[in-house]
Amino acid sequence: MTQPIENKDIHVDLAVLGAGPGGYTAAFRAADLGLKVALIERYPNLGGVCLNVGCIPSKALLHAAAVITESARAERIGLTFAEPLIDLPRMRQWKGEIVQQLVDGLAGLANKRKVEVIHGNGRFTSPHTIAVGGDGSGEQTVRFEQAVVAAGSSPVKLPDSPHEDARVMDSTEALKLTDIPKRLLIVGGGIIGLEMATVYHALGSRISVVEMQENLMAGADPDLVRPLFQRISRQYENIWLNTGVAEMKALKGGIQVAFRVTEGADAPQKTTFDKVLICVGRSPNGARINGEAAGIAITEHGFIEVDGQQRTNVPHIFAIGDIVGAPMLAHKASHQGKVAAEVAAGMKSGFEARVIPSVAYTDPEVAWVGISETEAKQRGLSYGKGVFPWAASGRALSQGKTRGVTKLLFDGDGESKRIIGAGITGGHAGDLIAEAALAIEMNADAEDIGLTVHPHPTLAETIGFAAEVFAGVITDLYLPASKRRSAGLTGTAARAATATPPAQR
Ligand code: FAD
Repeated sequence: MTQPIENKDIHVDLAVLGAGPGGYTAAFRAADLGLKVALIERYPNLGGVCLNVGCIPSKALLHAAAVITESARAERIGLTFAEPLIDLPRMRQWKGEIVQQLVDGLAGLANKRKVEVIHGNGRFTSPHTIAVGGDGSGEQTVRFEQAVVAAGSSPVKLPDSPHEDARVMDSTEALKLTDIPKRLLIVGGGIIGLEMATVYHALGSRISVVEMQENLMAGADPDLVRPLFQRISRQYENIWLNTGVAEMKALKGGIQVAFRVTEGADAPQKTTFDKVLICVGRSPNGARINGEAAGIAITEHGFIEVDGQQRTNVPHIFAIGDIVGAPMLAHKASHQGKVAAEVAAGMKSGFEARVIPSVAYTDPEVAWVGISETEAKQRGLSYGKGVFPWAASGRALSQGKTRGVTKLLFDGDGESKRIIGAGITGGHAGDLIAEAALAIEMNADAEDIGLTVHPHPTLAETIGFAAEVFAGVITDLYLPASKRRSAGLTGTAARAATATPPAQR
């Protein structure tokens, strides 16, 4: 029976539409700052894509994949394990338990903060109201002084593909792990596609990857992707670059895929797979919130433009996360969420991150932050670089992770030699890149990084070593005389000793 609207209407200081990492962070921060907050989410769980069908379940499955591949590789160090018995229902349950633990944690955090969580589809009905529900169970109106749009993004579908066939999956369906297809085609060689390829390959699928660009993982420098490419080109059945999907047909015996092959590419005209996973990007959910009713300008692609304080064109309405554009990453969404909440609460705050790191949790991992070498070249920037190959790292060798590289880029203009970018390929690259992100934020130069005493033997040491390579003072590698420098990393004492005394300036 439809309930009277009046009973359920509420009035809050801040309404947050969407409870992903952007939305729940905004809601919690605003509540901590004393605002009365409603958090509106169409799904039963808080946490959005990241927690329910993105970052967390994919990393859980990648952990399972790593256990399988590491135990297979252990043979060469004298440890032979039996072939793993894969219990898919148990694996699904384990993944679900991890997600559930975090979902419950978020519900508890919302409750403690007295954030009013409202479940249902929300849409703006005016600049100060959102209607939630409307599915026959009655609609609730949330009146707000200010609002944050954190409605996220959805997987892009390939036009004219048989999406209704369960054998054609997007990342959400692939994470359900309903079965292990014998032959799996991954359409799109970006981060999400390659992570899922890592999982399904470890579980036993024969993987083919098709990518329209000439390189996998656009955005990362080709020299960082190379160690990954070298490994997976031996493991996977096919990696077709410069190739698109022309047509897909659901046949009884599988999904038949016809390729659009550019000259020089070696893909067949047509072949059949047991399943196809489409990972060709994500599109923002801007068109699904009826933003026009509030006067919010939404681009034709569904993005919402914001200023440095996350304000939309409607000053009391903010937008954050995937819906405001690339990079579509959880850590960007949550930082923007804090900014929006703080501005809404009257604080002076702004999204001023210099850099946002990207990580592919593949095997090996690939991580990068700041200006890439490709971008530096395209922009004609003057830069210098220090590259440390992991084959020379004792820690990498002892972990069998020699297919790695740490690369730091430094400003080549003037005396500053500030770090402007970094890329790391190898185990735990995603954890290691945080030091480079901090270094860029802190305006560190090669001396700051090279003179920081890194613990030995660690993978983190390779960051210090890369700075030493740049400075020409590395001793863990042999540099030709032309690249060695006697001045070295001077440090504060030496800098002070050589600095001109103030009186003489
Ligand atoms: P979302 O997480 O998309 O949340 C938006 C929420 O809004 C959703 O819960 C949605 O249901 C809700 N919503 C939308 N419209 C309405 C409406 N009208 N009414 C009510 N509710 C609504 N990022 C990383 O940083 N690291 C990773 O390792 C990583 N791995 C990923 C793996 C996969 C497979 C995928 C798909 C994504 C991954 N991402 C990763 C990306 C990350 O998930 C997103 O960048 C992040 O979730 C964006 O957060 P958000 O708050 O903007 O939106």
